[in-house]
Amino acid sequence: MKASDWSVDRFADIEVLRYEVPGFEQLSLQQKTLVYYLTEAALWGRDILWDQNCKYNLAIRKVCEAVYQNYKGDKNDGQWKAFEQYMKQIWFANGIHHHYSNAKFKPGFTQEWFEAQMAQLSEEKQKEFENMPIIKNEVYMNRSQKALPILMRAMFDSTYMAIKVNQADGADLVATSAVNFYGYEDGELTQKDVEDYYSSKKNPNDPHPVMYGLNSKLYVDCEGRIAEHVYKEDGLYGTAIKHIVENLNKAAQYAENGQQRIVIESLIKYYRSGDLKDFDTYSIEWVKDLASKVDFINGFIESYSDPLGMRGSWEGMVNFKDSANTARTEIVSANAQWFEDHSPIDDRFRKPVVKGVTAKVITAAILAGDSYPSTPIGINLPNSNWIRAEHGSKSVSIDNITAAYDAAAAGNGFREEFMWSAEEVQRAKKYAHYVDNIHTDLHECLGHGSGRLLPGTDPDALKAYGSTLEEARADIFALYYMADEKLVELGVMPDMEAYKAGYYQQMMNGLMTQLVRILPGDNLEEAHMRNRALIAYWTLERAQKDNPSAPAIEIVKRDDKSYVRINDYAKLRQYFGELLGELQRIKSEGDFEAGRNLVETYGVKVNPELHAEVLERYKKLDIAPYKGFVNPRYEAVKDAQGNITDVKIIYSSESYVDQMLRYGREYAIGE
Ligand code: ZN
Repeated sequence: MKASDWSVDRFADIEVLRYEVPGFEQLSLQQKTLVYYLTEAALWGRDILWDQNCKYNLAIRKVCEAVYQNYKGDKNDGQWKAFEQYMKQIWFANGIHHHYSNAKFKPGFTQEWFEAQMAQLSEEKQKEFENMPIIKNEVYMNRSQKALPILMRAMFDSTYMAIKVNQADGADLVATSAVNFYGYEDGELTQKDVEDYYSSKKNPNDPHPVMYGLNSKLYVDCEGRIAEHVYKEDGLYGTAIKHIVENLNKAAQYAENGQQRIVIESLIKYYRSGDLKDFDTYSIEWVKDLASKVDFINGFIESYSDPLGMRGSWEGMVNFKDSANTARTEIVSANAQWFEDHSPIDDRFRKPVVKGVTAKVITAAILAGDSYPSTPIGINLPNSNWIRAEHGSKSVSIDNITAAYDAAAAGNGFREEFMWSAEEVQRAKKYAHYVDNIHTDLHECLGHGSGRLLPGTDPDALKAYGSTLEEARADIFALYYMADEKLVELGVMPDMEAYKAGYYQQMMNGLMTQLVRILPGDNLEEAHMRNRALIAYWTLERAQKDNPSAPAIEIVKRDDKSYVRINDYAKLRQYFGELLGELQRIKSEGDFEAGRNLVETYGVKVNPELHAEVLERYKKLDIAPYKGFVNPRYEAVKDAQGNITDVKIIYSSESYVDQMLRYGREYAIGE
């Protein structure tokens, strides 16, 4: 694709991209057909997620889409333009709250304008909306409360349902979050109600606990008792789940092997029973399925949208193994022991025997539910702790998505603005995508698993600093080895030049450019951001002390702009090795004071002048801070008997708006 073809739409703080699915044409007809039915099963979950995100989302989408499609006025009108942006935002966020910040969108158009547009709709539509019950599900259908006034309040009253997931310390997280996991009426349940309910259910001595609350909504039933309304074929979201199951059933007929068939069938069983023990069985079977080319995620998975971290947002993804790139990660894991033995750490902290993680590189074929349009680039599942410990987990990185990000980033001027010279820009163009992937492999497959605690060290000794220090340790492990000739010898790295792209990227990001993601006056809070700053600022200071007149790395000014300049890459690697040794010591000994000192000294505070400068330069580039994707379409070609004879992948010209409207038509529930 040409660079300009990657970008599909741009609005507010969002850029929508297209992604390619290389290798799809080379799949067998059986695999293509399997992918086809799995993508259908994935797309059918869309409205579940919309409803989970906020109980008014589906109704608001319906009303807004009607207005959007009926509008015949001036498309340059300010009110219309603001409404168009709002429509695109709620599509992107799967609801009326921002997908990342969780804050409710503020319409830039007035309620009067919107109501005037509604008055232009056909009489039939107007009547339908007027009589719309507030929530379309089994529990609420019989109640006579009219939806429209409440929908207007949800859209236009900024104090009502202001935040999707509230995590503020001290607040009642259940009562103050707009997410639709607790209660059918506002304020029906408090955080304490929910906590009491589950603490009475949980048995702390159960070695194999299910993930309580993962697939249900908690509410107060007609007799005043707290109860779970379970998501299953004949329960909550039954309409969508029936379609999912129907397509999973078809997919099972095209399974590549017996194990994969068992995986699909055990997922169907779980969707029918709603029993979380069945979900555990499915997860264990899924972990065991390592031979299949095609794989998928379909269900209630991640719990970031629940302020109490229990309920799973519906998510779908279909993918297949990228064999060439997976071979690379397999080489890395197969040599795990060599890396452990040669790590620049004290011998007492070394693991005598290293166990690798199964990792693969995948090509995404469809993104759905909570993975659409905004999507992760790596996934590690299942989330159940005891299943991970006893059966392992599958870790994947999604190469065609990172490739799309990189292709879109190549032309946005960011590197030219912030990198010291054309040399760094050229190196990034040539190696960045590759080096990012190697970094992820080394970080995930080896870094986190390396080293060991001294006997008697409490694994939680580093407390609140633990996750920043652990991310820093995995990152510095990756950085240290990225420059090792061993990787060139193994064929994982192309030459001894490539790692420099990784080093420059890490230092520029940690010292400067990651600051575009925080507001003036803020400290660094997020663990990954802290870890990058810690590594970068510790190394900068180390270089300064080591050789004040010619440091290996420095921040220099040119035309009043700050740049990172690396003068000696080999020396930089030596410092990384020292820091790895120290981070491992802190972890192995549980040295809380030293860990806190590292994080607080290098990883939290922000230089306000540098921050202001970076924000100013970034603003001029007009880059969207958040990105997401439209999916390709899959079309099944059938013969006269209805058998699938081919599956075509169509990138074509479907726009972001067209795709959203089509999904709304073809995969709608709650009618
Ligand atoms: Zn990590």
